[in-house]
Amino acid sequence: MTVFSTPHFDDHEQVVFASDAATGLKAIIAVHNTHRGPALGGCRMWAYGSEEEAIADALRLARGMTYKNALADLPWGGGKSVIIGDAKTDKTPELMQAMGVAVERLGGRYIVAEDVGTNPDDMVAVHKHTDHVRGVKGEGFDPSPATAFGCFVGVKASVQERLGRTSLQGLRVAVQGLGHVGYDLARQLSEAGADLVVSDMDDAALARARAELGAESVGLDQIYAQDVDVFAPCALGAVLNDETIPKLKARIVAGSANNQLAEDRHGQALADKGVLYAPDYVINAGGVIHIFHEGPDYDKQTAFAHVGRIAETLTAIYERARAAGVPTHVAADRLAEERFGKAA
Ligand code: NAD
Repeated sequence: MTVFSTPHFDDHEQVVFASDAATGLKAIIAVHNTHRGPALGGCRMWAYGSEEEAIADALRLARGMTYKNALADLPWGGGKSVIIGDAKTDKTPELMQAMGVAVERLGGRYIVAEDVGTNPDDMVAVHKHTDHVRGVKGEGFDPSPATAFGCFVGVKASVQERLGRTSLQGLRVAVQGLGHVGYDLARQLSEAGADLVVSDMDDAALARARAELGAESVGLDQIYAQDVDVFAPCALGAVLNDETIPKLKARIVAGSANNQLAEDRHGQALADKGVLYAPDYVINAGGVIHIFHEGPDYDKQTAFAHVGRIAETLTAIYERARAAGVPTHVAADRLAEERFGKAA
């Protein structure tokens, strides 16, 4: 088993293997970079096929959080933890408590939150042994409205950049996925005067969007080829790929889904086609920004004003991409690296 020689190792500051025989905990905590502050990142529980897979995931996701937190202008570095196991069958409150002990041992260098396979209840168990946790049930708030608002201001900044207009009135937007984020984004777009085309496998969500937002609904595979100005992926990862990019008629891709580019080269493919891509980890940072503001002193106006700055960050990224002649996801990475001091 290797760490330093895996392709995902990127000078991570610390990688900890944590175990607890009594509860069966087997976890990896990866701290990528703490130049800006403690490393914040979720705890994923997944039935990995091998330990190598779990290490690769922890390293990759921790690095991603450094970039995301830096561009969200948070005083946090990037980290991530993974618990090896099936969240449906292997997870117990005792195991999550043992995870809390493991997090506490890092003395605050890593702050844990929920992720795939964990939830706010699990963070209550973690919280029994450490204060270095966010999104604890009862204290936490739903991050989705903040994520949706960040996407809304991100769409507006992207429209300003590519179409040179400040109003969304009469623009056509295709929203893929009407879940917690997608529906709220669709509602804000509709209120701003945009016309919507939507897709989801949930017929009730589609019916609601038709009735409440006047949206047109189309089949799952039809959403890519719609004659729209903006495509907003709010469902799945890897939706920008060799099959879908040739179909796109939108001049802008801006939505909440994580890991939208199937591969890095698809960012270049979008740029070659003249499509402006709002890097996903920048436009969907509203949730993590909101997590930062949670707590006894929570002030919604302050939190949402911070989320609103996603628009300025995207505009700065677009300017840099234009000046340097690089795709927007490359310009975003470079700006993040300046902010967290990669060279240092
Ligand atoms: P969700 O589970 O509430 O909603 C996802 C929706 O997508 C569901 O309605 C589902 O039926 C639909 N869907 C699934 N497959 C689809 C397909 N092939 N075509 C069309 N629709 C499909 O999830 P969410 O919280 O709204 O998050 C949406 C995306 O945004 C995810 O990729 C998530 O990782 C990302 N994200 C969410 C947040 C947040 O605060 N919730 C923060 C950052 C990123």
